[in-house]
Amino acid sequence: MLATSKKMQVPYINLGLQNIALKDQLIAEFWKVMESGQFIMGEALTNFEKSFASLSGTKYALGMANGTDALFLSLKAIGVKEGDEVITAPNSFLASASSVALIGGTPVFADVREDFNLDPEKVEKAITAKTKAIIVVHLTGRPAPMDELQAIAKKHNIHIIEDCAQAIGAKYKDKPVGSIGTTGCFSLHPLKNLAAAGDGGVITTNDDKIYNYLLKARNHGLKNRDECEFWSYNSRLDNMQAALLNVKLTQLDKWTARRRKIADMYYEKFKDLKIIAPRDKSFEKAVYHTFIIQTDKRDKLKEFLADMGIDTKVHYPIPIHYQEAAKYLGYKKGNFPVTERQAETILSLPVYPELTDEQVNYVADAIVEFYKTNS
Ligand SMILES: *Cc1c(COP(=O)(O)O)cnc(C)c1O
Repeated sequence: MLATSKKMQVPYINLGLQNIALKDQLIAEFWKVMESGQFIMGEALTNFEKSFASLSGTKYALGMANGTDALFLSLKAIGVKEGDEVITAPNSFLASASSVALIGGTPVFADVREDFNLDPEKVEKAITAKTKAIIVVHLTGRPAPMDELQAIAKKHNIHIIEDCAQAIGAKYKDKPVGSIGTTGCFSLHPLKNLAAAGDGGVITTNDDKIYNYLLKARNHGLKNRDECEFWSYNSRLDNMQAALLNVKLTQLDKWTARRRKIADMYYEKFKDLKIIAPRDKSFEKAVYHTFIIQTDKRDKLKEFLADMGIDTKVHYPIPIHYQEAAKYLGYKKGNFPVTERQAETILSLPVYPELTDEQVNYVADAIVEFYKTNS
């Protein structure tokens, strides 16, 4: 049998590999910053922000301490305050919702569609007089249905904040994510498609007022070296991180192309199996932060693959409205049937650029093999 004849190891992720491939360049940039002594707000950060704005098709990009702060300070920038409601997806990483609660607002969930992104009809039903914004998550790296969501936001005169944490480089009808809403919020966490050596984040925007507010808001509310306009947070991206990220940014297009190629290989192998989420449409350029299949034999398949040396994950096993932290919001089982079903059927396959074709085929063949005896 396959399992014994050619067992291969396929970790879910191997974060060291991209650094090894860029070793000399990373060390050179690291040392430049060390020698300059410029650790906070230096030239590397300015260059990174310029490149990031250009990649996102926005006027501005601001380095932040992490993606959660990017969401939190975006909400502050548009004036969300205590008692306001912000609609988001219950199947996202919890920060899409916690950022709202941390500001004193109320996260309101709307269910998603089969492609894991917000269902515009459900979003519109969730709107009340208190709704201030929608945090649209481009989950898995696939752009959400922005035309429909923007039409709703416009009709009700509310903001869209894009949670682009999983979607750097993704495009909706040729528009880069992060350039469509009032702000775009990115994470540079080591597991994201563009990864810092630690925590990092970015906010993109075309709005001068919001940009000028955020410049101060991420830096203690300082309007210059000595004068503080309002109390605020310390949420800057380190110059050292920016220096390393400048090296990695030169590889991003290549990495994204490889992720999309791996997705193509999976889709091709799985075309006769009824286990995958709908493919990205021609106007959705997905960047495959995760490649998620759905099957009601999820746990059995996960175990079968583990036995073959293949590591998989579940993003995410507990919907946000089921979390202990969210109990006070009063949601219960049955509120979001699509999200709740998917939590039990989704499985994330390895999809990082450093995977070899042999590894991708090994994973795909193992799944096809599983289906021969389990369908
Ligand atoms: C990772 C992630 C975040 C949070 O980013 P951090 O940098 O870890 O704070 C927010 N939203 C989504 C969808 C994410 O995947």
